[in-house]
Amino acid sequence: MTAAPARSPADESPRLAAGCARPPAEVYDVALLDLDGVVYVGPDAVPGVPEALAAARAAGMRLGFVTNNAARPPAEVAAHLTELGVPADADEVITSSQAAASVVAELLGPGARVLPVGGPGVATALRAAGLTVVDRAEDDPAAVVQGYGREVGWAQLAEAVVAVRNGARHVATNADATIPSPRGPLPGNGAMVGVVRDVTGREPLVTGKPDPAMHAECVRRTGAADPLVVGDRLDTDIEGSHRAGAASLLVFSGVTDPAGLLAAGPLHRPDLLAADAAGLLVAHPPVTAEDGGWRCGRWRAVSGGAGLELHGAGDGPGGPPDDGLDGLRALCLAAWTGGTEPGPVHAGDESARRALAGWGLEVR
Ligand SMILES: [Mg+2]
Repeated sequence: MTAAPARSPADESPRLAAGCARPPAEVYDVALLDLDGVVYVGPDAVPGVPEALAAARAAGMRLGFVTNNAARPPAEVAAHLTELGVPADADEVITSSQAAASVVAELLGPGARVLPVGGPGVATALRAAGLTVVDRAEDDPAAVVQGYGREVGWAQLAEAVVAVRNGARHVATNADATIPSPRGPLPGNGAMVGVVRDVTGREPLVTGKPDPAMHAECVRRTGAADPLVVGDRLDTDIEGSHRAGAASLLVFSGVTDPAGLLAAGPLHRPDLLAADAAGLLVAHPPVTAEDGGWRCGRWRAVSGGAGLELHGAGDGPGGPPDDGLDGLRALCLAAWTGGTEPGPVHAGDESARRALAGWGLEVR
């Protein structure tokens, strides 16, 4: 990627510590937005997010949509976003099918025969990349490209297994084990890819996030100088932002919960966090080292011999505004720099106990 990274590789400060003194929509020129769990969950927009994205655009931020969901072609994704109140053009959307198709075209050359497994978005992307789409293992495909699709069943998986066993390269658009839904996590492409891998014993090549190809392509298309990745998954969106050298905002409207964030390894730690994408419109407080612990707003967290502790400063008025996540920001820094195993957190007072329960964390 040629754009200057928002976060210099020489920046040694821990993730989250710097915050963002002005709303990210005024600081970063392009938001690289994940879709499932960020803009929508299942069929519906995340409440307030279409309005927030309109306000971010009004503040001068451009939007790019980067999805590991391979099922639908970009024009269909753009039409769905527009219907949900987020006006989008097909060329603002990058799907993992497109990324997989470019990788396969580069690897095998134009016109190579490829067996798609997944929704219509997979075959559309393969044809657009100049590849020849076949539907049977007997057609001797050089690759199987597997992406998410609700229609994927035994017959498609069996065809893929035979083709891969006969020597076709198995390429997965992404390896997300789950997709978010209003009923909780449901099987994602990674789970279906696992079926083909388990039966053939061959490891697939994965081309979607966290591989940086999609974020890099979005940066190239938009000419972003200072992009901000907005995502709900640590192992795809946030890791992808690290590998693309971009800053990141984690939102809690999708699959990640506070316990998962506290346990995150270095590649999975975001620069900013918010309840949802409306976090683009507000300043994010810094987290500062204080007395062997970490302070954010009126909260202080320490990592001691007995594990993590969180202290509030009572419920009185005064102090900077708190979006309900300041204590969690302090706790993340304590967990990430303290070297203790995340476990139940000691509540130093009643406000800490209430906050911890609100984030679904175990209290001791
Ligand atoms: Mg997502």
